[in-house]
Amino acid sequence: MNTEYLDTLNQPVPLEPVSTDWLHDAGVRLDMLRLDQLDPLVSGNKWYKLKHNLSAAKVQEKATILSFGGAWSNHIHALAAAGHRFGLSTIGVIRGEPIEEHGHLSSMLTDAAGWGMTLRFLSRSDYRNKNDPEFIQQLLSRFGLRKEDVYIVPEGGSNSLGVMGCQEILSASQIPSNHYDEVWLACGTGATLSGVALAANDRLPGTRVMGVAVLKGADFLKNDIHHFTKNSLDNWTLLTDYHHGGYAHTSKELLAFIRSFEQETGILLDPVYTGKLMFALYRSVLDSVENTEPYRNKRLLVVHTGGLQGRRGFNMH
Ligand SMILES: *Cc1c(COP(=O)(O)O)cnc(C)c1O
Repeated sequence: MNTEYLDTLNQPVPLEPVSTDWLHDAGVRLDMLRLDQLDPLVSGNKWYKLKHNLSAAKVQEKATILSFGGAWSNHIHALAAAGHRFGLSTIGVIRGEPIEEHGHLSSMLTDAAGWGMTLRFLSRSDYRNKNDPEFIQQLLSRFGLRKEDVYIVPEGGSNSLGVMGCQEILSASQIPSNHYDEVWLACGTGATLSGVALAANDRLPGTRVMGVAVLKGADFLKNDIHHFTKNSLDNWTLLTDYHHGGYAHTSKELLAFIRSFEQETGILLDPVYTGKLMFALYRSVLDSVENTEPYRNKRLLVVHTGGLQGRRGFNMH
């Protein structure tokens, strides 16, 4: 593995103040941890979920890393990029048919294939078995691979090594302890929130971790987070009302908010994760102004988990 490159991924990422009229009016101070600026190819929280998985694959002398995702998966994109950077062979098992609307692969999969990832497509019904060991075994034989040569990362990179990596997110920059009242981030599987909440519990006493679920009906994630954190924490809250219709669904209101936030701050957001996160923060701050102003003089940290390559799937102009 190319360890020189590993050093570049261990560089501190920017921690930047964000100012908008609504934050100013509400008396809220907000900083943003820019994981989106980690690296031009391997961006965001997905690197943290992958890093210990890649090390484990190396220790176990696995020649190939295989994982699962949809055609717009940030995880597949990051895995392909990391494979390219580190010279690892990668396989992406993709849900659904290879052909996208205009007769091309999605731009995300085009990147992945360009970085040398082998793409394999599964019907949606087969894909549902992605965590079944017997099905995986059949899949490997179908691909002509031996189990002992392949390291398997679950969809989204959300396993215990992924959570372990996410415990390092708050160390991506110099974050003073006792500085923030809340840390905000977007949740898909809850693995990132779990890692961040575990780290905050150790290092940032009194800081609450606020997760914004981007999928509909996400109450089940609370159980997953309890599982990832071994029921050891009570320093986090999951907000489940900001999904805008479901995973990768948007609303006019969300897109308008993203546009105005981008214009005001120069910071780009993606509509699947970080856009919903900032919208939820915006709404919570505004609601608090109308009520008892619990956010006045609060110091918040928001984690920009990346995902900007996914903007290409939406008309954001
Ligand atoms: C995957 C992803 C998340 C969600 O991470 P989980 O660990 O699955 O909750 C958040 N933001 C971005 C940009 C992502 O790509």
